[in-house]
Amino acid sequence: MPDDFDVSDEERRKLMTDPAGRQNEAQRIRQIVARLARAQPASRKVRRDPLDELILTILSQSTSDANCYRGWEALRAKYPDWEAALAAPPGEVEETIRPAGLSKQKSATILGVLSRLRNEQGSPTLDQIQTLDDSEAVEYLTGFKGVGVKTAACVLCFALGRDVIPVDTHVHRIALRLGLVPENASAVRTHEILNEIVPPELRYELHVLLIGHGRSVCTARKPRCGECDLADCCPKVGIHTGGR
Ligand code: SF4
Repeated sequence: MPDDFDVSDEERRKLMTDPAGRQNEAQRIRQIVARLARAQPASRKVRRDPLDELILTILSQSTSDANCYRGWEALRAKYPDWEAALAAPPGEVEETIRPAGLSKQKSATILGVLSRLRNEQGSPTLDQIQTLDDSEAVEYLTGFKGVGVKTAACVLCFALGRDVIPVDTHVHRIALRLGLVPENASAVRTHEILNEIVPPELRYELHVLLIGHGRSVCTARKPRCGECDLADCCPKVGIHTGGR
């Protein structure tokens, strides 16, 4: 694999406007996917209703999968539909999703989304975003208070089946370490770059593989570079031992 991973924004722009550079970049990403896929079981893409996916992703912010799903199950058990959640007494939704953490903030975001959708659409539904293209859908979703680009990308990827790579904390960290994005690139900038350089058919798979890699090998505090299938092409190999 080439070792020119660590590039500036300007260098990346030149690389991506050159057809040969674009092809090399895509090839490098294919190799990363192939190596990571050897070590991880294939995952099945679950398709949810867009509004369910948005609310589930709001619940998943800054918590573990287990706690997120505890909050989600409690919410679904308490209310037969989203209208019922809107009609709940003040504080009840917050109390219901407490297992997911940050319940005050998350309940305000969820009720804000539901209330605006009911006002705009007549009922809480996100079905209307199926007609929008990717950038229009991201712009629409990030217009809701408390909904960021990652959350919007999850809705596009998991509910609409679009070829979009959501950038969570693992994807962001590993993209930085591998030099797929310039050093200090924000999560939003990383979203923009990865959704430009990763071939569309690999975006979902790369998202899942990087999360698995980030949880098991390239962890935030102590990456296990000695066990990493990408060690020979990673500019940050040995980072935890002060290597680079
Ligand atoms: S070599 Fe280390 S820093 Fe690089 S991707 Fe692997 S675990 Fe992460």
